[in-house]
Amino acid sequence: MTRSSKPDESREFLPFCRPSIDAEDVAAVTATLTSGWITTGARCAELEDGIRARTGAGCAVAVTSGTAAMHLLLAAMGIGPGDEVITPSMTWVSTPNIISLLGATPVFVDVDLETLLVSPETIRAAITPRTKAIIPVHYAGAPCDLNGIRAVAKEAGIPLIEDAAHAIGTRFGDTEIGHSGHAIFSLHPIKNITTGEGGVLVTDDEELGATVRRLRFHGLGAEAWDRNQQGRSPQVEVQSPGFKYNLPDMNATLGVTQLKRLDQFIDRRRQIAEHYLNSLPKGIRPLGIPEWSHRHAWHLFVVRVDEAQAGLDRDAFMAALKELGIGTGIHFRAAHTHHWYRNQEYKAPGGLVNTEWNSDRICSIPLFPDMTDEDVDRVIEGIREVCDAIHPTVNQEPLKA
Ligand SMILES: *Cc1c(COP(=O)(O)O)cnc(C)c1O
Repeated sequence: MTRSSKPDESREFLPFCRPSIDAEDVAAVTATLTSGWITTGARCAELEDGIRARTGAGCAVAVTSGTAAMHLLLAAMGIGPGDEVITPSMTWVSTPNIISLLGATPVFVDVDLETLLVSPETIRAAITPRTKAIIPVHYAGAPCDLNGIRAVAKEAGIPLIEDAAHAIGTRFGDTEIGHSGHAIFSLHPIKNITTGEGGVLVTDDEELGATVRRLRFHGLGAEAWDRNQQGRSPQVEVQSPGFKYNLPDMNATLGVTQLKRLDQFIDRRRQIAEHYLNSLPKGIRPLGIPEWSHRHAWHLFVVRVDEAQAGLDRDAFMAALKELGIGTGIHFRAAHTHHWYRNQEYKAPGGLVNTEWNSDRICSIPLFPDMTDEDVDRVIEGIREVCDAIHPTVNQEPLKA
């Protein structure tokens, strides 16, 4: 088998991700569009109820993105200049961006070489008297060691905010992520369920929940939607200046129907992931799976392309798959390697060796519930073809002179 130098035009491009939208989703959004109320209202409240029922969280507040959810939580916690916030650099840039925009300093901790998860030990070693929050990431849908991390946070008296953008439906042991403490979910179209754009924060702190709810809508004492009286009462006042992060019903209604299919989505994602785990060639190394008991949400299927073993580097691997009509992504290029952070003061007390090694080698291959078995086989064959082109197998026909 040789690799064609031309794009494979006979087949449709297979993206690395595509949202799964069914007739019920379309009907729900259509009903909201024609209902006479399309901004934040009853559908948003229904989505929040659904997330609370699913996770067991005390409060759920739906907003326009996971980034907005993180912004509101950090703002409500009063994080600002002089404060430090611990987070991995192997995360989406939104978290270090929000920390920086608030005038605080991101303190980057390294991740495990195989799972890309932060550990209680690295977090403990990064804590200083200035540390005001700890933000671990449940990377790719696998949970961090929450028992260990919670113990470190509790001992130091520092709030923990779980970045669960990848982890709606993930369980640590038998407990759903978001059940207690503070967490943010993203409902961006690449995430496990979507509202087009959107996010939800959950917290078991009622007072914090109420503050965040106020801050998502100008800091007003009530929102435009009033359960008893559609329309704003003229008496509502700004309690403290807030933002404009409320999630419209047009979006929220999609989340309500998507949430019903979350387990179905995760089951299909797991099937595909297991097929990949059994079929990928050597040199294309999947992430390690945490040893603690958990339910993986399989948000991403990340492989590491190590040139020494695979014969080509990650960027060449991605380009070769693209030629075959197969999409890939990078989740993530380490935040501290981005232009602004390179020229900025950040802290990384324990070094970022594992983060940097992975940042240069990781690649997300297609994984979404609507992939057919043929799509999955096409990806596996494509990867084998790309690797075989570099390391021809002994069975291959010799090149003719
Ligand atoms: C997607 C993502 C976010 C932000 O979510 P948005 O809804 O896109 O704002 C935050 N953290 C991680 C790890 C993410 O992958």
